[in-house]
Amino acid sequence: MQITLANSSHLCYSSFTMKKLKQKLIEAKYKITKPRLAILKYLSTHHVSISARNLHKKIKVFDQASIYRALNLFEELHIVNVEIVEKEKIYCLANEPHHHIICKKCGYMEKIKCDHFFNNFKNFNNVYHQLTLTGVCNKCSK
Ligand SMILES: [Zn+2]
Ligand SMILES: [Zn+2]
Ligand SMILES: [Zn+2]
Repeated sequence: MQITLANSSHLCYSSFTMKKLKQKLIEAKYKITKPRLAILKYLSTHHVSISARNLHKKIKVFDQASIYRALNLFEELHIVNVEIVEKEKIYCLANEPHHHIICKKCGYMEKIKCDHFFNNFKNFNNVYHQLTLTGVCNKCSK
């Protein structure tokens, strides 16, 4: 199976506003630094699911390390949804927990609401799950 995500980003709509995003940082007692702001602006205006590498190509002003650091923080604060596709983390704004279904031919992507509730593991903490569905979209199956 080959998904060509390397040079593209995929649409993933989120209803998070910039105001709400800034508020989340402030509530968690983090400063709104320039790289953080630039990433949030990019994600909320383009509605994409994108890797750190590609994000860095789009926002050229900052070094890659500060992009990685900011994304890690957003992950911790549950501002972004993280998924690993082709061994690379891809990020999108996560106003609700969700997964994606991706067309393995063209990379077209749709959002799937996450209704998995994993609260009952007595022997585990910080339980994390991810799920990526792949298929062939209608356009590609014609
Ligand atoms: Zn998404
Ligand atoms: Zn397709
Ligand atoms: Zn789920």
